[in-house]
Amino acid sequence: MKKPKYKRIMLKISGEALAGDKGFGLDQPTINAIAEKVKECYDMGVEIAIVVGGGNFWRGRTGEGMDRSRADHMGMLATVINSLALLDALEHLGVESRVQTAIEMRQIAEPYIRLKAARHLEKGRVVIFACGTGNPFFSTDTTAALRAAEIDAEVILLAKKVDGVYDSDPNLNPDAKKFDSLSFIDVLNKGLGVMDSTATSLCMDNNIPILVFGLNDPENIKRAVMGEEIGTLVSR
Ligand code: UDP
Repeated sequence: MKKPKYKRIMLKISGEALAGDKGFGLDQPTINAIAEKVKECYDMGVEIAIVVGGGNFWRGRTGEGMDRSRADHMGMLATVINSLALLDALEHLGVESRVQTAIEMRQIAEPYIRLKAARHLEKGRVVIFACGTGNPFFSTDTTAALRAAEIDAEVILLAKKVDGVYDSDPNLNPDAKKFDSLSFIDVLNKGLGVMDSTATSLCMDNNIPILVFGLNDPENIKRAVMGEEIGTLVSR
């Protein structure tokens, strides 16, 4: 049997990806389908850390007229709802998992402790990082980059609505060209919307490759873990 390409991965799932076609909130069949693919990777012995976004409920920058820090706090809380939903789906499949939050809420989940997270991964538990970095003005993409560096993940698998990085928005431009690979510096110089620049710089500085792929087909999670050529690879 073919072996997975990676031993330890950081999977970033946008909040939107959990909403399915509804575009808002949670779609249970979609969450279950994602959890099933995570389980298939877990069953192959891959150590899996996950960061989930919150955009299916709330993004700080959409809080028009609100104090930005407060709006971002609300966004971080949205990531907790999503993380718990994913935890629940994974537990139903028998995948031992933990949620760790960057802001303490001990009645609900463990606080984020790096060495404890690493220990969970070594013991074969999936770890879901909630509340982003715990700071306003950051994104969950930056959280994925930060936690990936902290736990020594080999790669960030960035599951998105689009199936890779394009030179323009493929939803608006039918002639948009998809890149198979890119360097971090190209992403920054061309202003490509892979991740925000903070997240991209953090990956560049710490040499953590990012594979951007579409979550329209959850099987892509497994394809990415197996090292199949999908999406767009951003590396040095
Ligand atoms: N957020 C934050 N700090 C972080 C991570 C997230 O303040 O470290 C807030 C921010 O308001 C953001 C929201 O949480 O808009 C949801 O995260 P994000 O927009 O990254 O979610 P996604 O687009 O991946 O669903």
